[in-house]
Amino acid sequence: MACFRCVFSTRFPQSHRLFLHLASPLPRAPAPTAAAAAPQPPFFIRQINMQAQNVAARLSSSGFLHAQGLVGGKWTDAYDGKTIEVRNPATGEVIANVPCMGRNETNDAITSAYDAFNSWKKLTAADRSKRLRKWYDLLMAHKEELGQLITLEQGKPLKEAIGEVGYGAGFIEFSAEEAKRVYGDIIPSPLPDRRLFVLKQPVGVVGAITPWNFPLAMITRKVGPALACGCTVVIKPSELTPLTALAAAELSLQAGIPPGVVNVVMGNASEIGEALLSSPKVRKITFTGSTAVGKKLMAGSAGTVKKVSLELGGNAPCIVFDDADLEVALKGTLATKFRNSGQTCVCANRILVQEGIYDKFADAFSTAVQNMKVGNGFGEDVVQGPLINEAAVQKVESLIKDAISKGAKVILGGKRHSLGMTFYEPTVISDVKNEMLISREEVFGPVAPLLKFKTEEEAIHMANDTNAGLAAYLFTTNVQRSWRVSEALEYGIVGVNEGIVSTEVAPFGGVKQSGVGREGSKYGMDEYLEIKYVCLGNLS
Ligand code: ADP
Repeated sequence: MACFRCVFSTRFPQSHRLFLHLASPLPRAPAPTAAAAAPQPPFFIRQINMQAQNVAARLSSSGFLHAQGLVGGKWTDAYDGKTIEVRNPATGEVIANVPCMGRNETNDAITSAYDAFNSWKKLTAADRSKRLRKWYDLLMAHKEELGQLITLEQGKPLKEAIGEVGYGAGFIEFSAEEAKRVYGDIIPSPLPDRRLFVLKQPVGVVGAITPWNFPLAMITRKVGPALACGCTVVIKPSELTPLTALAAAELSLQAGIPPGVVNVVMGNASEIGEALLSSPKVRKITFTGSTAVGKKLMAGSAGTVKKVSLELGGNAPCIVFDDADLEVALKGTLATKFRNSGQTCVCANRILVQEGIYDKFADAFSTAVQNMKVGNGFGEDVVQGPLINEAAVQKVESLIKDAISKGAKVILGGKRHSLGMTFYEPTVISDVKNEMLISREEVFGPVAPLLKFKTEEEAIHMANDTNAGLAAYLFTTNVQRSWRVSEALEYGIVGVNEGIVSTEVAPFGGVKQSGVGREGSKYGMDEYLEIKYVCLGNLS
């Protein structure tokens, strides 16, 4: 199937495909060829505003910007020359054109990864660890520029974007350390002439498909442990945010990770997905994204019986009990609801508040939300950027419309922001019921729906009344209750008196339809390892 976002752009000389370079004072882009003459360079320059030009200038001097895929260590165009536009969601401006790749490029990336696997897996764990550590150092050395790139293509506030670089790089650092701890076992033998061993070996080539909401961290969370275990990877980042992935891949090469170990393709998602799924050389699919696509990938993996880990949508309840410390509950709920403009799978999707504290919480929460500054992520003091695209805004609008039609009330916001584009007002709505669409689906936007409950039992029932099971939060000062409710919640992650729970040292993942497998921590390593049992016989 043709990729609707692909456009022919073979007439553009290579240097013009990354518009950031054009906005930079140094180096100047070469003069356009005859074929590309006339309007191209000035046209592109006009598409980038002054602020983005300044950012672009800093980024292009960093030397890690690429607008091509990476196959076998070579920066590569789509074979048919098609490209996709990458836009700044805050302004709509085109930042770059990247290749719209498909089946053929993906197959070549798989072959490269397969060939590289033979040598990468044979390096000592210490050697792989050193290279990963170097990659971590480079990511951290370029924290500011990578953060700017994330803000430019994803829209999140710069401070949050730089925070993502530290968080994302943390997975590489942690994996570098864990690489040295992939221990096997010796099992006491039931027979005197035998010895039984368990070896842990890398799975093989990994297909890593990632979303746009954390353009760096969702990649490092998969690629770090994969490489540490001795696997090689074909990454397919979101077409909305490929530049950060490409920059990270460049830094992996600079860190001494050999060509072919990390490959990046992007473009026609279903074609790339199909190539990864159908290849018997790909032994593992790791995916973060929507539940619908995750189910397709899980079904598609059956044909070649691949190992699969899926981190899918959530529907996080955030339960505030009467006995909560109000300040702690407000701070935690704000953090989990509005991080990344509400566009994370662990964002609070339903805020369940006990009746005794409901009005007080609603007032204080709305006041805090009212003070949040919305704007371009590069703006001073901005804490909420735009939503990723128009479809995201329309989804938020339709969920709010449905809730209002069924009796919910808008306390704050509830409409597009006067800044236009895909900016949306931070919103609080009350009188929400668990049956409304806004409680059934993942909002993925800056909307806080408040639901009232009477008893602990009711709260647990409401919280578990969903097919999702990724993250849940509860706020209480009662220690017994915190244990009781944590254990009763059907979720993979529970935050008690805390709204920000993600870290590279802890296992991240969901139950029910929120996914399978865990990422981060020592448990995340197992996703990239096969267990081999070796029986040594005839020893006496
Ligand atoms: P979101 O709505 O968060 O973008 P998606 O599940 O649509 O979530 O996308 C997550 C990632 O999955 C992106 O990289 C996207 O391009 C990719 N993707 C979407 N459809 C497919 C598919 N059929 N096969 C493989 N990857 C896909």
